[in-house]
Amino acid sequence: MTRELDAVGRTALLAAAVRAEETKREDRLFEDPYAERLAGEIGFELLEVLHGITYPSTGTRTVYSVPDHVGIRTRFFDGFLRHAATVPSTRQIVLGAAGMDARAYRLEWPDRIRYFEIDRPAVLEYKESRLEGVRPRVDRRTVAADLLSDSWEDDLEAAGYDPELPSAWLLEGLLYYLPEPEVHRLLDRVAALMVPGSLIASDVCNTAALAYPEWQPMWDMIEGWGCPALFSCDDPEELFAKHGLDMRAVLPGDGETAQYNRWDDPVPSPSQTDAPRLYYVHGKRR
Ligand code: SAM
Repeated sequence: MTRELDAVGRTALLAAAVRAEETKREDRLFEDPYAERLAGEIGFELLEVLHGITYPSTGTRTVYSVPDHVGIRTRFFDGFLRHAATVPSTRQIVLGAAGMDARAYRLEWPDRIRYFEIDRPAVLEYKESRLEGVRPRVDRRTVAADLLSDSWEDDLEAAGYDPELPSAWLLEGLLYYLPEPEVHRLLDRVAALMVPGSLIASDVCNTAALAYPEWQPMWDMIEGWGCPALFSCDDPEELFAKHGLDMRAVLPGDGETAQYNRWDDPVPSPSQTDAPRLYYVHGKRR
């Protein structure tokens, strides 16, 4: 490791460890052959702690399956990006907060795509060191920047992004960790870089998810690392609409993800306002 990863950067290692475990399953939802090396020892240590919370060794499971959620989420957003790549006008893909995402290496991409990964410098340096010698399957460009800084758009454009060309954006596993005003600021800034019709996807949780007593050990764990979950939203479609983004929200185990047959927990009905929800949202720039 070239630099120490901070707490939020370490969450990227945990996500990679989940993808490595998923890859080993016979009924895997996707294959990520790079996840194991990206997760490193730290990622698997963090996953063990999460498993201890999600699947207690005594008694039955009491909280929703977060590793399954991340597996389903990966598959769902793989589908989003695969679709985006087939839309002939899409010329640019941007992963905001790419973390240990290996889609540039493991998915097929048409030649017309320019592919950008934004994350903070230490995270991208760590990733480069883990993937040394592996060639991406796309014109991949990294943008070492903080999405809360005043100037990341300049860095993105310096890397070759053209705001006048159609794009597809993925903000996966990011918004939870941002203060609410920063979520609104970021969505405004992202929308400003998208021409109408450009695609976007993201994920958020609802307010009940952050307050759900049985999930507290998990939130406490993440807070203990120094990156508390800060942002929740009860109407994701309305949230994105405020920023010029027309989106649809789905839940793991429901709608477009039901076919994966993986989410063992109940899918809350719309009338259950106090049920914890993890939303996947996707749509386009108005
Ligand atoms: N999208 C990846 C995935 O799903 O595996 C990574 C998700 S990980 C849970 C959160 C990522 O957000 C980390 O890589 C972290 O470095 C990045 N991140 C958090 N705050 C950020 C910021 N202000 N600017 C850039 N990246 C940020």
